[in-house]
Amino acid sequence: MKALRDLNPYIWKYKWRLFLGVVFIVFTNLFAVYAPSLIGEGVDALNQVNKNYFEPISDAELENPGLNKDDLVENASIDLPPSLDFLSGTFNMQPDRTTGINTYEGLVDTIATIALLLAVLYLVTYFIKGIFLFMTRQTIIVMSRLIEYDLKNTVYDHYQKLNVAFYKRNNTGDLMNRISEDVSKVRMYLGPAIMYTLNLAVMLVLVIGVMFSIDPELTFWALFPLPFMSVCIYLVSSVINKRSEAVQKQQSNLSTMVQESISGIRVLKAYHREDYSRKNFTRESDAYKMKSLDLVKIDALFMPIIVLLVGLSTILTIYVGGLKVNSGELQLGDVFNFVFYVNLLTWPFASVGWVTSLVQKAEASMKRINEFLQTEPEIQNLQSEPTEIQGDIEFKNISFTYPDSGIVALDNISFKLKKGETLAVIGRTGSGKSTLASLISRNYDATKGEILVDGQPIKDVNLYDLREAIGFVPQEVFLFSDSIKNNIAFGLSEANDDLVKQAAMDADVHDNIVEFPKGYDTLLGERGINLSGGQKQRISIARAIVKKPQILIFDDCLSAVDTETEETILKNLKHIMKDRTSLIVSHRVSSIKHADHILVMDEGRIVEEGDHKSLMDSRGVYSELYQKQLLEEQTA
Ligand code: ATP
Ligand code: MG
Repeated sequence: MKALRDLNPYIWKYKWRLFLGVVFIVFTNLFAVYAPSLIGEGVDALNQVNKNYFEPISDAELENPGLNKDDLVENASIDLPPSLDFLSGTFNMQPDRTTGINTYEGLVDTIATIALLLAVLYLVTYFIKGIFLFMTRQTIIVMSRLIEYDLKNTVYDHYQKLNVAFYKRNNTGDLMNRISEDVSKVRMYLGPAIMYTLNLAVMLVLVIGVMFSIDPELTFWALFPLPFMSVCIYLVSSVINKRSEAVQKQQSNLSTMVQESISGIRVLKAYHREDYSRKNFTRESDAYKMKSLDLVKIDALFMPIIVLLVGLSTILTIYVGGLKVNSGELQLGDVFNFVFYVNLLTWPFASVGWVTSLVQKAEASMKRINEFLQTEPEIQNLQSEPTEIQGDIEFKNISFTYPDSGIVALDNISFKLKKGETLAVIGRTGSGKSTLASLISRNYDATKGEILVDGQPIKDVNLYDLREAIGFVPQEVFLFSDSIKNNIAFGLSEANDDLVKQAAMDADVHDNIVEFPKGYDTLLGERGINLSGGQKQRISIARAIVKKPQILIFDDCLSAVDTETEETILKNLKHIMKDRTSLIVSHRVSSIKHADHILVMDEGRIVEEGDHKSLMDSRGVYSELYQKQLLEEQTA
């Protein structure tokens, strides 16, 4: 129960709801316990017809066929049931020839009226009980929903704080599950589990109290089988949980498989793998069926166990109660009451087993949620004061090793980049270019060495101001399922049509956008249109430049556009980059030859550096690459 204790502050927040819930539970149960006693009273009242009518007659007389009933009615009298006591002035229950009560028919009529009144009272009781039950659910279940909402927000807030490395380590499905499934399992503890436990406690006190006051021995026999029911239900529920988890897992396998084959449908069809995909589906689907059938088998035990043990309890009650009625220790109505009480206790006792397994599940889920909530973001903002960023960047002997893979991506990198200058990084694939770029926005912290921003260590700079000051175009374009306009305006605190349009023009994508029927309001993503690779890259560039950041980072963002478009974009970007610090990563010499300084990288190290001219003069890797690419372009 340790993990669940972390929920106490949430519960405390809604303490008044919980308190009201408890009050409503008490009232619900008071009425629930009162209702069966009306049945008992009805039975006892009915019994009076026999008793009162025949009371003065001995058994021997009763068997005398010549008996004249009219002679016997004189002694008839009826006791009002306790619940109808308030009517004692209205009904005359004493023998009276004029009212007709002392005839056999009169007696029956009166009893029928009493039964009717009790029935009405029974209905009213249940109606009021229903209202209180409604209020109970309105307080406790609503409380659980509110806490679920709070918890989801907490988890999501925390997700936003965690950094890139965390997301590399945990898969998306797992992250989604914790915020949806695990949270709803915890809700089952907060709602149903707490509600049924309170309910059981209150009901036990009330019902057992009443039963005890009637007959302790009968109480013992009536309750005897119920704890066994709790244990059995617990065992069955545990197996049900295990199996339904297996079903859920298989369900998620199945949907992942379907999702993959749908999103990869083009590749799938191009390679003519429909049959393979179908077989795959059948296999997963079969597994799902088998697991579901397993679950159904054990599920089917649930009700029979309850019915069997409640049946046993009822039989014991009637048998022992019957003996006691015979010996005159108990009224017949009491036995009826007991049968109803046993029924009342059925679900609470069954719920003990069910609730126990709910709590266990919630505990496991809460542990998983806590695991995430207790994960501290590795990249911390250590500067609470705002920092104004100018854009000077310096790398001093930076090395970086990816923590999870142990891959050394950067090895002793040093460079200086002044505000307004452009640095270009070129090199073979996997040489560490993207890694270098990601260190500037502190997606990771360097393993060795020091990065200075405007002369101060990067860790002393306010993290959020730093990121705010960077316009980053990642190598892999990601656009949200939203309009083009909103995608470009993503980094702006307020959307501004003119800025968006200007940015799109600078990124040379405006002409494409206005050709779409809905222009800037065109939806992208699943339900929207598909853009070409080059169009996506240019929208991603527009998104970076729209906020006019002090530092621009372009990670290989022109790889999907032709050299002509590349030139247009670079020309447009020139005036934007004029007073800003820029880092351009590329495979193509043509994109970077105008940079102030060029780093040529290989296997995490700088192998050559200088400006275009000096690099060409030195006739090294760079000039070789340039010649090769020039040749390719000419032959293309
Ligand atoms: P490309 O030109 O293909 O984009 P790059 O120069 O940008 O390559 P990086 O992405 O910086 O190369 O990768 C440098 C090295 O670090 C590679 O060996 C790569 O496998 C490794 N690497 C990159 N990202 C991660 C990561 N998140 N976790 C572990 N290793 C990584
Ligand atoms: Mg890269």
